[in-house]
Amino acid sequence: MDINNNIEKVLITEDALDKRIAELASQITTDYMEKDLVMICLLKGSISYFAHLCEKITLPIEYEFLRASSYHGATTTGEVKLLHVPTISLKNRHVIIVEDIIDTGLTLAAIQKVIEQMEPASLEITTLLDKPSRRLDYTVIPKYVGFIIPDEFVVGFGLDYDEKYRNLPYIGVLKKEIYKK
Ligand code: 5GP
Repeated sequence: MDINNNIEKVLITEDALDKRIAELASQITTDYMEKDLVMICLLKGSISYFAHLCEKITLPIEYEFLRASSYHGATTTGEVKLLHVPTISLKNRHVIIVEDIIDTGLTLAAIQKVIEQMEPASLEITTLLDKPSRRLDYTVIPKYVGFIIPDEFVVGFGLDYDEKYRNLPYIGVLKKEIYKK
């Protein structure tokens, strides 16, 4: 079974992702020149964006990984659970949280609070995708946004449906019948 056959349409191609991520990396490189920068990857969805973005940033950055869960399949429970907290010190350091997609903003709002308590010198958010029409928490303001997308459930480039489709190299919309199985 080829996963590409389960995709109704491609929303963002591999080439477009590459190009936009290079632009954001270059902007971050300029903004954080001479700064002690820690990039935080939110597992699992941000993994592809995080890897592509960080390898294009030409600064000596440090990696950290966090895990929060709020989604089950294609529906949200509205509950945010932090399954990992940072193990390195973020005090007086410049931190960027790398997110795959901001939907309601509830996940990031919870994570933002935890990181703020660790007293970083600065805290910014980058998200590959943004669905502003669905926002419930307005304290989450991403500085570096890849693409603004419509209110559709997307998969690929790290984003899953039922833990699958993360390995698609592009962002796509699943065929309706996949959800109904
Ligand atoms: P929020 O708390 O902003 O509503 O949701 C953020 C998280 O929900 C994302 O990190 C992602 O894991 C998941 N999510 C939100 N929208 C989508 C979507 O369209 N597709 C997928 N695969 N996950 C989504």
